[in-house]
Amino acid sequence: MQIHSRSASSDGKTLKYRQMTEDGFLVETTYVDHGNKHIICFSSQVGCPVGCHFCASGQRKDEKRFRQSLSAAELILQCENVVADRGIDDDERPILFSCMGEGEPLLNISAVISALAHFGSRYPLARGALSTSGIFPARIRELADRRIPIPMKLQISLHAPTDELRKLLIPRTASLDAIIAAASYYATKTGNPVEWNYVLLRGVNDDRSHALALIALLPHGTHIKLNRFNADPRLPFSPASDETQRSFVRVLEDGGLIAESYRTNGSDIGAGCGQLTYAVSAVVLLSPAR
Ligand code: SF4
Repeated sequence: MQIHSRSASSDGKTLKYRQMTEDGFLVETTYVDHGNKHIICFSSQVGCPVGCHFCASGQRKDEKRFRQSLSAAELILQCENVVADRGIDDDERPILFSCMGEGEPLLNISAVISALAHFGSRYPLARGALSTSGIFPARIRELADRRIPIPMKLQISLHAPTDELRKLLIPRTASLDAIIAAASYYATKTGNPVEWNYVLLRGVNDDRSHALALIALLPHGTHIKLNRFNADPRLPFSPASDETQRSFVRVLEDGGLIAESYRTNGSDIGAGCGQLTYAVSAVVLLSPAR
C-alpha cells in the first residue's frame, strides 16, 4: 500500500489520498486537520457490498461494487502512510482513526479490530471511531467484548425511523430493535459513546413525522448527528433544505434527543461522507481474471 496521489479541499483543511494496494486497487483515505485533533478516515474494503442507495461507494454502476476486504496490514499502512505524509506521528494533538471510509467494517471485523488495537498501542493519545450500517448486531456486541485497547466511539447509520423505510435506503441491515439493543450493550460494556447518523434526504426522511417517530424509537438523551447529504449526480437524492434541517433539529431536541447538524469536510473534492470510492489500476484492468 503506497500513496498514489492526493488532492486538497478549497480551504486546505482536508486531503483526499488515493493509495495503491499491492494487487492494483486504488483505495481512498481522508485526512482532516480538525483544529484540536487530526482525523484520518480510512476505508475497510475495496468497494462495499451493502449497497446503500445514498452512497457513492454502494452505487457503482460497473457491477464491481465490491472487490475485497483489506487486510489488517493494509489498514495499518493506509493510515501510517497518511501520518508520515502529514508528519504528525509525535504531534501533541491526538489522532482520531476513523473507520468510516469505503466499506462495512463489521464485514471485515478481525482486520479492523487488529488495526485499531495497533493504533491504540502505538499512539498514546489515539482515539478510534467505527461507523456501521448495523448489518450484524452480534458483531457490535463482539466489538464490546473484545475490549480493543483504544477509546472507540461507535456510529450507527440510522437514516430512517422505521424498518420499512430504512430497508429502502440500506438494503442489507438488521432490524432497528436488534441494533438498538446491541448499541446499548456496547455503550454499557465499554463506557464509550454511541452516535446515530441520519442523513436528511429531501422528501424521503425529513418530515416532522419522521422526527416524531425517532423520538418514540430512541431512548431519551440519544445523540443523533444530522448529516448534510453530499449531492452526487450518480445518486437519486437531494439534501433537505437548511430550514427543514433546522426545524428537524428543534423537534428532536424538544423531544429529549441530542441533535447536532453536521457538514462533512472535503465534499468539494469527493472526500466527504458517502463519497469515497475505489478505482482500479492498469494491473487490474488488464487482468482477465478480475
Ligand atoms: S454507507 Fe457505508 S455501508 Fe452503506 S454502501 Fe456506503 S460504505 Fe457501504
